[in-house]
Amino acid sequence: MAVHDGHLDLDGLEAGAPGSAALTDRFGRPLHDLRISVTDRCNFRCQYCMPKEIFGPDFAFLPRNEILSFEEIERVARIAASLGVRKFRLTGGEPLLRAELPKLIEMISAIPDTEIALTTNATLLASQAEALATAGLDRVTVSLDSIDDAVFRSMNDMDFPVAMVLEGIDAATAAGLGPVKVNAVVRKGVNDHTLIDLARHFRGSDHIVRFIEFMDVGSTNGWRLDEVLPASELVALIDAEFPLEPVDPNYEGEVAQRYRYRDGAGEIGFITSVTQPFCGSCSRARISAEGQIYTCLFATEGSDLRSKLRDGTSDEELTTLLAGIWRARTDRYSELRSEATDELGERPRVEMSYIGG
Ligand code: SAM
Ligand code: SF4
Ligand code: SF4
Repeated sequence: MAVHDGHLDLDGLEAGAPGSAALTDRFGRPLHDLRISVTDRCNFRCQYCMPKEIFGPDFAFLPRNEILSFEEIERVARIAASLGVRKFRLTGGEPLLRAELPKLIEMISAIPDTEIALTTNATLLASQAEALATAGLDRVTVSLDSIDDAVFRSMNDMDFPVAMVLEGIDAATAAGLGPVKVNAVVRKGVNDHTLIDLARHFRGSDHIVRFIEFMDVGSTNGWRLDEVLPASELVALIDAEFPLEPVDPNYEGEVAQRYRYRDGAGEIGFITSVTQPFCGSCSRARISAEGQIYTCLFATEGSDLRSKLRDGTSDEELTTLLAGIWRARTDRYSELRSEATDELGERPRVEMSYIGG
């Protein structure tokens, strides 16, 4: 059964038909989330994701005909829902660069018993929030690495100001998409001196800031372990300024460790992908804008769904195919990385801007 080597083989896979026993991978993990990248393009050039030196004017982004259409995405989403997926997240690149995104949201939000979220840099959110909400979007996660304007402009490397992101958050809240989760990637020596100010800015609001350990995704971002500020140190840093206490997870498999301010000023989270991996409960599959399915953020190869979507393969066969891919899954990259950083650091991996985070 060839599933993780780029080839899809329909023979010998059992159907993961709805109504049959719950679909789980080799480690017993269910398929619960599907992250859908709707474009590989972005208006930012965050050094840790799309460094300018690589993603410059000559970089070959995917041509239009190689990107899944809304109909193709909706078909995959519907099939994934029949296999147990309950949550979709649209991502990218920058998902709000994809024309007519509300139309796709309308199509996906019609799938019963599922919810749909969006991760965005929010630069285009102010103008689109209302349409996204009307189309059926349930929630928004906004990336904002620093509240310090100079640091933020330098981190996105395209001189976008913090104010634009804050306007996006306000618009999303006004449109009923709040409270918003605000994700900040932490890089030692780059933005760690501005994190307390970020926490302070959102304290007292319902928005939840979540600090993410800088991850070794892709092969172009020059990741170094010594740039990772361990979440345990971050918790101590914030706790010293604003005392914290832990909160139980909302649900099994929640990636962020939750804390609340002891004075009642709200909640904050830490995503410990590097220092305390959470592969054991990882229930996420990812599909790239061109229709490659990945069962791990750190995969070296995906499985090509697009050709199957375009060659007359039936829904039933596609369901069997997806179920087989999930059943064969043994990914636990971050746990393995903790055990052997050097070896794993050498493998070519898909880029974050391509797979969508
Ligand atoms: N452009 C959108 C945005 O930035 O929100 C969506 C796509 S982006 C790839 C999704 C998330 O991945 C963002 O929150 C971003 O900060 C995070 N990310 C990208 N590269 C990362 C890295 N090397 N380590 C940790 N998080 C990363
Ligand atoms: Fe663009 Fe998001 Fe990557 Fe930054 S993290 S370059 S905003 S895709
Ligand atoms: Fe999931 Fe892979 Fe991340 Fe582990 S490393 S939590 S398996 S995406």
